[in-house]
Amino acid sequence: MYDAIVVGAGSAGCVVAARLSENPNLRVALVEAGPDYPQLDQTPFDLVNSHNNSYRDHDWGFSYEPTSGREDRFPRGRVTGGSSAVNTTIALRGVPEDYDEWASLGNDGWAWPDVLPAFKRLERDLDFPDADYHGDSGPITIRRYPEGELVNAQSAFLSAAKKLDYPFCADANDPDGWGAGPHPMNKLGRLRVSAAVGYLAPARIRPNLDIIADTMVLRLLMDKRKCTGVEVRDLDGHVHQINAKLVVLAAGSLMSPGILMRSGLGPRREVEGIGVESIVDLMGVGENLSDHPATAVLCELKDGVAVDFDGPIIQTILRYTAEGSEKRNDLQIEQISFAGRPDGPPQFVIAPVLEYQYGRGKLTTLSADPSAAPRVENKFCEDERDLNRLVDCLIDTLAFVEAEPLKGMISSLVFPDPSRGIERQDLETLCRRFAGSGYHPCGTLKMGPQEDETAVVDSRGRCHGVEQLVIADASIMPSVPRANTNLTCLMIGEKIGEWLRTEPQNFGL
Ligand SMILES: Cc1cc2nc3c(=O)[nH]c(=O)nc-3n(C[C@H](O)[C@H](O)[C@H](O)COP(=O)(O)OP(=O)(O)OC[C@H]3O[C@@H](n4cnc5c(N)ncnc54)[C@H](O)[C@@H]3O)c2cc1C
Repeated sequence: MYDAIVVGAGSAGCVVAARLSENPNLRVALVEAGPDYPQLDQTPFDLVNSHNNSYRDHDWGFSYEPTSGREDRFPRGRVTGGSSAVNTTIALRGVPEDYDEWASLGNDGWAWPDVLPAFKRLERDLDFPDADYHGDSGPITIRRYPEGELVNAQSAFLSAAKKLDYPFCADANDPDGWGAGPHPMNKLGRLRVSAAVGYLAPARIRPNLDIIADTMVLRLLMDKRKCTGVEVRDLDGHVHQINAKLVVLAAGSLMSPGILMRSGLGPRREVEGIGVESIVDLMGVGENLSDHPATAVLCELKDGVAVDFDGPIIQTILRYTAEGSEKRNDLQIEQISFAGRPDGPPQFVIAPVLEYQYGRGKLTTLSADPSAAPRVENKFCEDERDLNRLVDCLIDTLAFVEAEPLKGMISSLVFPDPSRGIERQDLETLCRRFAGSGYHPCGTLKMGPQEDETAVVDSRGRCHGVEQLVIADASIMPSVPRANTNLTCLMIGEKIGEWLRTEPQNFGL
């Protein structure tokens, strides 16, 4: 019998488990479907190597439908550290207005002044330790590449941005900042400072924390409307139960909804449709899927332009606002240092990304079988406001191809193909067909007050209508923030972990 079981050792789950277990009187179990590597020297290279994403060796193998009729792979980390253990390590916060918007929807405690202390607490910013909006002693080390460490394509991107009159931005996490500069990153040398590295490593010696890896949570155990533990399956296929006073679900925005549905918590008709008895009718489970639609400008490079597949994939970023938009920093352009295959022609990509999304997608749990993947439909660019701003961003990205010194490196534009037309309406067609995910799905178990029928958890992460169940991961975000989502997931873990530790009475602990 544990005090708390945390389901999923990802970005948020590691933080919650680490914060909860700071209280030596609480017995905590952290249950993870993937493997755990307690020693750095025994950790596989794909997890250590922050120069590129890990797509296969520690992945769930999901796919998704970004736009109508198109299927693609949707990577998600399956290992302690979760997606933070396989990601690009861009360490960006959303803009203050993102969190103010969450609070304005009835979520007390999530406005910018409320979340800033958690963002500061999670980081050790090596470049700006004295800024009043930065932390200097948290578990996640953050720095930025100095000019001398930028690979050719990245430094050319910053020079081109200057030619195009974008201001230089030394710190993309300055709440008022915008422009082009090196992105903040949670890596030290080549080491990816995942949530497992930053949070679990120091916590794992605690006698009150059990890390139970290679163990898949099949469903929650429910006694009427009260959650009493989890049913799990270990690597050998044995199914057993683990009991606790409280369960914290942190399996990520693509997996947490399915665990609820298989436990009888979700839209009644859909729960019954997969053959499970409905316990609480929660209409919002799987709805409100929010993400960053993106596309790509693929360039072939001149002979002699060096492309290093072993170097950092991204080092710089441009954050800016679409013309006429009321949403500040709603666009992002990223230079990707290499593309294609090492034995193919040298290529790189410049990627336009829409950071504020109006449209929403949906996630459907297709089966009561816990190993069945969810169906993920993003419906990108179906909202005209999203389409127009992504096209604006694509047009701005094409300007980089014509700006020196990038122009001097490029021999031809591969995508979009100029021979098929690159007028605005051609680009609209391309975005409608080919927009893909920035790999930042969230919102599928949205936080909001009880009066909002589509809200699944309250502003403390407690599941509406269910006792002793908290949800803490990307799924509770009401909307995607205008930034890559890892830091916001860590912040969610910090907020909910601290509440659990300091106000246990509010969670039945
Ligand atoms: C390839 C890639 C690149 C990315 N790049 C960046 C980036 O550069 N910067 C950035 O900010 N964000 C990036 N992201 C997004 C960011 O990493 C995620 O938003 C964040 O890690 C999500 O955190 P989470 O806690 O919600 O879920 P996750 O970190 O995905 O954690 C969920 C955990 O739960 C486990 N789990 C799931 N189901 C079960 C079950 N049934 N039983 C037990 N365990 C289970 C999973 O294995 C996983 O460990 C990237 C993501 C990917 C995949």
